[in-house]
Amino acid sequence: MKYDVIIIGAGPGGIFSAYELSKTVPTMKIAIFEEGKELEKRKCPIDGEKIKNCVRCESCSIMSGFGGAGAFSDGKYNITNDFGGTLHEHIGKKKALELMRYVDDINIKFGGEGTRLYSTAGSKFKKICIQNKLDLLDASVRHLGTDVNFVVLQNLYSELKDKIDFYFNTPVRDVEIRNGKYEVICDDKTFECDKCVVSVGRSGSKWIESVCRSLGIETKSNRVDIGVRVELPAVVFSHLTEELYESKIVYRTEKFEDRVRTFCMNPHGIVVNENTNGIVTVNGHSYEDKERQTENTNFALLVSKHFSEPFSDSNGYGESIARLSNLLGGGVLLQRFGDLVRGRRSNDKRIEENTVIPTLSATPGDLSLVLPKRILDGIIEMIYALDKIAPGTANDDTLLYGVEVKFYNMEVSVDENLETKFSGLYMIGDGSGITHSLSHASASGVYVAREIAKKR
Ligand SMILES: Cc1cc2nc3c(=O)[nH]c(=O)nc-3n(C[C@H](O)[C@H](O)[C@H](O)COP(=O)(O)OP(=O)(O)OC[C@H]3O[C@@H](n4cnc5c(N)ncnc54)[C@H](O)[C@@H]3O)c2cc1C
Repeated sequence: MKYDVIIIGAGPGGIFSAYELSKTVPTMKIAIFEEGKELEKRKCPIDGEKIKNCVRCESCSIMSGFGGAGAFSDGKYNITNDFGGTLHEHIGKKKALELMRYVDDINIKFGGEGTRLYSTAGSKFKKICIQNKLDLLDASVRHLGTDVNFVVLQNLYSELKDKIDFYFNTPVRDVEIRNGKYEVICDDKTFECDKCVVSVGRSGSKWIESVCRSLGIETKSNRVDIGVRVELPAVVFSHLTEELYESKIVYRTEKFEDRVRTFCMNPHGIVVNENTNGIVTVNGHSYEDKERQTENTNFALLVSKHFSEPFSDSNGYGESIARLSNLLGGGVLLQRFGDLVRGRRSNDKRIEENTVIPTLSATPGDLSLVLPKRILDGIIEMIYALDKIAPGTANDDTLLYGVEVKFYNMEVSVDENLETKFSGLYMIGDGSGITHSLSHASASGVYVAREIAKKR
C-alpha cells in the first residue's frame, strides 16, 4: 500500500496533522497508524471495585488509542509559551501562539463551544504569589473537561474517518528509508509513503528512541520531573481555581535552590493511575459535568532534575524511583502530609479516619522511603509556601500520592520545519521531546501539515 503521507500515532499531534492536511490538500492519500484502539473501545479495566489497581494491559487504554494520552485527560489546553513545551524555540513565539489559538478555534467548532477560557492576565494573584516567594506563570487555559474533550474527539473522528485510512491496533515496528521513500513496517504488512510524520507521544518514547538510533538521528535527554500528587478539599484552592482554573506556580527552594512547580491542577477532580511502559505512576483529571465532580482538588508538585555529564539517562532515573514505589506499594503509594512530616508511614486506619477522602485507591505507605531527600525536602518546602496563599494546604490531612513522574522524551534533533535530517521525515508532539502538552502537540501537528502542503 502506498500513501502520500503516513502519520504514526493518533494523539493530538497526529489528529491535528491529519485534520489540517485533509483540509488543505484534500486530494492527498493519508493514513494514520495507531497502536491502540478506536476511541469508543478504549476502556481501562480499573473499576474501583473488582479491579482496583493497574493490570498492565498490553496496550494501555489511558495512554493509547484515538485521542492519545489526552483522550481521558482534563482537556486543559494551555495557550502559552511559558510551559507545555519548547515549540516556540523551533517555529518562533508568535507562530506558536497563533497555532495554539487556531487549535482552540477547532476545538470550539467541534464541540467545545460554551467552555470557559481562563486567563492570568491582570490577576491579583500574581502579586500575592510574588509576596510569598511564588511565581505565577502567564497563560490562558481553555478547560474542556474530560467529558467535552471526549465529545470533541468523537466529532473530529467523524470528520476524518472518510477522508483518511485509520489502522487501529496496528503498532508500527520500524521505519526504514528506501529510494527516498519511507517504509512503515507493521507486524504483517509494510506500507510506503513519501512523507512520514512520527507523533507517538510519551508511550512511544522507547520506540522512537530505537528508530532514531537505527536511522542515526541525534537525540538528547537530560531532564525528568519527579514529585507527588497532592489532594485536598476543593475549598482550599477555590479562590485560585475559580478565577484561573489552573494556576502554574513555581517556587525556588531555599535549601537547594531547586525549582518546584504545580502541574495539572484538577478542581473537584479525581486522582488516577497512569501506566508508562509498565510502570504505574499517578496523574489526575476532572469533569466539566457537575454530577461527576468531587469535593477534592488535586495537582502535582514536581521537582525538575537536570543531569549533566556523564549521566544521560534521566528517564531511567525517574523510572527507578517509580519502580521503588511500585515495589513497596504494588502501585501508587498514599501518605497523609501529617504522617510524612512526623516521619511515620500512613496506614489503613489513619487513611480511613482522614477528613480528606482519597479519590484513588492506593496503598498507604511512606513516601520518604521512595523519594530522594532533596526532592522530598523541596516538596515539603513548597507545601508550606503554598499554605501562605491557600491556607489549609499544609494541613495534616492533605493527601500525597506518589510517585508522579513527568518523563520527558529525549529531544530529537529537528530543524525549524520539525523535519529530521531526512527530507520528509517529521517528528512532532510529545514523542519528539519538543512538546509536553495538548496545545503544543496539536499546534506542532498543524505546523507540519502546513509545511508538507507548502512543499507539494
Ligand atoms: C491522565 C493524563 C492527563 C493529562 N492532562 C493534560 C491536560 O489537561 N493538559 C495538557 O496539556 N496535557 C495533558 N496531558 C498530556 C497530554 O495528554 C499530552 O501532552 C498529549 O496527549 C501529547 O500528544 P501527542 O499526540 O504528542 O502524543 P500522545 O497523545 O501520547 O499520542 C501518541 C499516540 O501514538 C501511539 N503510538 C505510540 N507508539 C506507537 C507505534 N509504535 N505505532 C503506532 N502508534 C503508536 C500511542 O498509542 C498514542 O495513542 C495529560 C496526560 C495524561 C496521561
